Amino acid sequence: MIYFVIKIFYVINCKNLYKKALDLIPLSSDEGTVLYKRAPLEELIFIGDQLRQIHIPGNNAGWMIDRNVNITNICFSQCTFCNFCRKKGSSDAYITSISDYIKKIDELIALGGDQLLLQGGMNPDLGLEFYTSLLRNLKELYPQIKLHALGPPEIVYLSKKEKLPYSEVLKKLIDAGLDSLPGAGAEILADRVRKIVSPAKATSEEWLDVMREAHRLNLPTSATMMYGHIETVPERIEHLVRIRELQNEKPEGHYGFIAFIPWPFQDEGTVLSEKFGIKSSYNGPDYVRLIAISRIMLNNIKNLQASLLTVGREVAMLSLHAGANDLGSIMIEENVVSAAGANNRFNASEIQDIIREAGFNPVRRNQKFEPV
Ligand code: SF4
Repeated sequence: MIYFVIKIFYVINCKNLYKKALDLIPLSSDEGTVLYKRAPLEELIFIGDQLRQIHIPGNNAGWMIDRNVNITNICFSQCTFCNFCRKKGSSDAYITSISDYIKKIDELIALGGDQLLLQGGMNPDLGLEFYTSLLRNLKELYPQIKLHALGPPEIVYLSKKEKLPYSEVLKKLIDAGLDSLPGAGAEILADRVRKIVSPAKATSEEWLDVMREAHRLNLPTSATMMYGHIETVPERIEHLVRIRELQNEKPEGHYGFIAFIPWPFQDEGTVLSEKFGIKSSYNGPDYVRLIAISRIMLNNIKNLQASLLTVGREVAMLSLHAGANDLGSIMIEENVVSAAGANNRFNASEIQDIIREAGFNPVRRNQKFEPV
């Protein structure tokens, strides 16, 4: 009897929360947690899709062509989920040379791409002058290429190294050619989790503070989540709430977070898996649930991207029906999540076929999610 009373309570509660979500009223952390844990997946998919249609009417789904180039693989951070980083002095440590950039950008242009995603480790030998010179050089060589580069942890690192406020570091990078700031290094915005998965990286507050400054400067940004390791469901929900609250602070008319992109922890060969026995908790239905919940919780972020690279074709297709409106990039040369087991690679024609097969119209877009 008690079981049925509790079940009816949750059914009524979920219905009330769906109504609230569809009225674009922000749900609290507790409400989001109840939906995540209790709501039937098919109902979440339905609500996620309804909300996607409120934000992005019609039947289009976005994709893009860009290229990831890693600036360096030397990183002092040594995050426990990262197989990509190397210690200074390692035989396979590198800093990408200008001639390599030229070769890679020429290949990108030949494939019709116009954006470079510049990521890499936090190399203790590289300061702000290195990054501003690099961006300036690339812009001089390829003025048409958009530079989507670095991320909050690098800004925090450069700010400490140069003894400059975040706003000054960002202004100098923008002046040198930075077009947008990826939401890299967010992992889970809960310091209990960060102390284990990325102890030497920016804290949650620092990550958010950098993004706050970027939004004040009207630099387009994205927000991400790397989940499925040691975090709890309430911590996943709290992550979404913190992102939503920061988005609420952005000055009127500024870009803020253009998109939110969640992806699962890839465990293959990582310290987290090998040394601490933490395996990825990823499964397809849970990813689709997370997509729908992200759409429900983030009532002020228009674009929601499913990570085709990490979840693959079928789950990405279902995600488009659960609130996602984008499958990201064909991502020529991705080295960080691929080093930990993400092996889903698609070319431009395949990504469009996937979108069509899911029942949507593929629309190629740029970093600002504008059709091109
Ligand atoms: S995830 Fe990024 S910050 Fe962490 S160790 Fe790897 S390269 Fe460094």
